[in-house]
Order: sequence, then C-alpha cells, then structure tokens
Amino acid sequence: MRGRFAPSPTGDLHLGGAFTALASYLRAKAVGDAWMVRMEDLDPPRVVPGSAARILDDLTWLGLAWDEGPGVGGPYGDYSQSRRSEKYSAAIADLEARGHVYPCTCTRAEISRAASAPHAGEEGPRYPGTCRDPSRRRAGRPASLRLRVPDDGRARIRFVDAFAGPQDEDVGAQVGDFVLLRADGVASYQLAVTVDDVAMRVEEVVRGDDLLPSTARQILLAQLLDGAPPAYAHLPMVLGPDGERLAKRHQSKWRGSTIAELREVGVTAAAILRVLGDALGFVIDEDASLGHLIESAGTTPMRPRAAWAPPREWLRPHVGDSSSR
Ligand SMILES: [Zn+2]
Repeated sequence: MRGRFAPSPTGDLHLGGAFTALASYLRAKAVGDAWMVRMEDLDPPRVVPGSAARILDDLTWLGLAWDEGPGVGGPYGDYSQSRRSEKYSAAIADLEARGHVYPCTCTRAEISRAASAPHAGEEGPRYPGTCRDPSRRRAGRPASLRLRVPDDGRARIRFVDAFAGPQDEDVGAQVGDFVLLRADGVASYQLAVTVDDVAMRVEEVVRGDDLLPSTARQILLAQLLDGAPPAYAHLPMVLGPDGERLAKRHQSKWRGSTIAELREVGVTAAAILRVLGDALGFVIDEDASLGHLIESAGTTPMRPRAAWAPPREWLRPHVGDSSSR
C-alpha cells in the first residue's frame, strides 16, 4: 500500500519519528509499493531552519530512500505543505460551496467558558457551535473558518485501525465543528493532512497513536470532499527515560534521543534498525539488515510492541553543561 512519512521540521528526527518512518517504509516496501516523504511545514513560527534537510539526511543515513518527496519529486508534488496553500484554499472553497463552512470569531477563552463539560487533553473542549448563528459573530475580529459538521449521521465514523483495532467516534458529539482555516490564514492541520493524503493517493497512514484522535475528523473531511480516505495504522509510543512519550523536550536533559546524537557517538544505522525492527515485533538476528526487515515484513504480520523504551545505554544525561553549573 502506498505509504508516507510526514515529519514536521521543528527539530531533529528523534527515535519516535524514526520508528514511524521505518514502520511505514516497511509496510509499503513489503508489498512493493511506493513510499513518500512529505514535509509538514505549515506553521512558520514552529519551523526550525535547516531541520528539514537534517531529517532527510538522517532518513538517508538509515537507508530509508523515498520514492516521492523532497529532492526527488513525484506525480503528486509539491511535497512540502508550505507550497500547497492553493490546494487547501481550493478544498475549503469546495466545502464552502456545499454549505459546510462558516466563519467563527470566538476566542479560545470564550470557547472554554461556553463548553458545558470542559475536559482535559490536547483536543481541548468541544466547540459548542456558537457562530453557526451569524448574529453571534463579532464584527471586526479576525475570523477562522470552521466545518459545519453534518448532523445527519455522516459524522459517526467507524474504522478498523491495523494496530489500534476498531474505532468508533461521533465527530459532532466529541469534537464539534472544527477549524479548517485559522484566523491567521493558515490551513489547519486536519485540513492540510486530509487534502494531501487524498491528493497523493496515500493508501495507508502509519503514524504515532497521539494522532489517533484526529483520524475520525480526517476521514469525515475526506468523505465530504468526495475523496477516498486511506487506511490507518497507529503505532504505540516510544518512551523516554521518564516514562513519558519520547519528545523534543528530552533533548535538553538527555543525549541520544535523536538519530543525529546517536550518529555522533558512533551508534550504527544497522544497530538502530535492529532496535526499531525488534520493537515492530520482528525476529531480529545479529546481522539483520534493512533488506531482512523488508523480507520479514513481507512474510509475517507487523505486531508492534506496546509502549517501549530505547536501550538504556543510548540515552545519557547531559553532564557539565551550563545549566547545571
Ligand atoms: Zn465561534
């Protein structure tokens, strides 16, 4: 199945990213399909200059060659989101023409106050639909554009995730009308990812399970745009030394959470692939290579281990840096 890896160039490739990249690469290559890389660089303030090139260099060093993407091109380019804004505007115009879009002038604080049952979590409170009523929109405020989530049953999304199992979400009840275009004019993550996955003919999305809650929204959007949503496979998380999801913040306390830092201290690409391949549930022997992993992925089902941590000897606390003096 055509697959993709879609990193955000907000820092170096860490082990969690490499894990996702390898899993999606193997699932595409096991059946002889194309694997693409797409840069999710839509949010200019978060983009770290040079990190896109560093991520691509780390993927190349690991041996994960992409068939379509930056530097290679392909039939569905451009492969950087920052150069695809026209496609996002066209999709929003399409949804608007079908009556699925309205402007919203609510502030974050207003939405929190209006939410009947504020719940914790990255997703924030459900948007109560205030601005569906035009008289409640505030003139003179910057407006975002929201999707009018259909209330005719189409927003009840059921799908079977290859790793996480059967899923069932009512987007209207759980998330509410969500943002398509931010008030600063940037397309939302949900819209951009959906438009790209459909346009690039992605057949299976492999990514970390922190994005599982986004999936129902993306399937709904693809369907409203008359596109074929891909299949999904959400991977369990990679843990840092503190037992939390391995993330960028670990770089300030530990060395060895990124591919670049492991390269620096002489850890080989083969050693990293062996650890990641083992975490994907493959039987790994000492001389296992990427070729062996592709072979395994073609003959045995991928069964990722539940949340796992990298070898202890890879991650070492920073010593003697300025913050500890
Ligand atoms: Zn509003």
